[in-house]
Amino acid sequence: MPDLSKYTKRLSEHFFNSDNILLISHINPDGDAIGSQLALYHYLIATGKKVTMISPNYLQEFLKWMDGSEHINIFIRQRERCRKLIENAGLIVMLDFNQPDRLGEMEDIVTGSRTTKIIIDHHLNPKGFADMEISDPTFCSTAELVHELITGINKKPVSTRAYCEAIYVGIVTDTGNFEHGPYTSRTFRIVADLLDTGIEKARILNLVYNNFSENRLRLQGFALNERMVVLPEYQTAYIWLTKADLTAYKYVKGDTEGFVNLPLSIKGINFSAFFVEKDGFVKLSFRSIGNFPSNKFASEYFSGGGHMNASGGEYRDTLENSIAYFVKILKENFISLNGNK
Ligand code: 5GP
Ligand code: MN
Repeated sequence: MPDLSKYTKRLSEHFFNSDNILLISHINPDGDAIGSQLALYHYLIATGKKVTMISPNYLQEFLKWMDGSEHINIFIRQRERCRKLIENAGLIVMLDFNQPDRLGEMEDIVTGSRTTKIIIDHHLNPKGFADMEISDPTFCSTAELVHELITGINKKPVSTRAYCEAIYVGIVTDTGNFEHGPYTSRTFRIVADLLDTGIEKARILNLVYNNFSENRLRLQGFALNERMVVLPEYQTAYIWLTKADLTAYKYVKGDTEGFVNLPLSIKGINFSAFFVEKDGFVKLSFRSIGNFPSNKFASEYFSGGGHMNASGGEYRDTLENSIAYFVKILKENFISLNGNK
């Protein structure tokens, strides 16, 4: 168990001494970004603090049921209002990211603010743009880290329903319902405590996972049938989708979430890539099993980054050229990347 006591004292002083506390999640916020943001929100307002929240862009449907999510300001929808919130903040806490480009279109405003900034995160390679960085990749989720920090500050676990649901959603979504990532026995002890407070596990899982459209399921079928290429000699498979594919299946944001994981269920496949055609570039997601450093692949060749087993990036070219480049890079680096074991 990492020693968090060196952080909790300073963090509680910051909370105690600050008035307007602004919590910021990352662009395209996932369950962990929103879960940790809302958990901290519920904790801080219960201590009497004035707290505001911003997300750089829209929340997906599967997170909108969460208690407090209606109070999250969306930067791209309410720019002036968000600008004022940033300006008036006495303390800024950023959750689930440690690189400024994850702030999306609010990057310059936030990084340019002189307000004390704190990062709470579990990704590798923090970029050092905050006054205090609590960035520990041994935690399965930022929510787990937030929970340990708050429990340390509060001297006992917070047990309100909204808080517990938020921590639970963060842990469940970042581990793929306890399938991947560095979850530990500590994670299960936390989850056991959360369940003991009476949160409804089945209801929450239903709201998070069974919230898709018919079109989304059909798009998944199409992607697997028509758009998946398997390269057994490189223990790799990839899936690609064009803009026209997305239009044909009435794509809405979030519909392709999780597709990148699917090829890993093929025996012998340890690395998976997912390409989506965008305007003028291609967005890539990578997943790996074991020691294949997908984040190194993403940062060296696709201007991206992430965790060892889950990363992403982009490539400024056509879809066709991006795939050709990917296959070339994979062939050239397969041995050396696997040599990292
Ligand atoms: P996903 O494939 O779910 O979009 O992203 C998985 C992880 O990869 C994210 O949690 C994030 O750490 C990382 N990631 C995805 N896209 C990018 C990117 O463009 N740049 C960086 N630095 N990291 C990314
Ligand atoms: Mn996370």
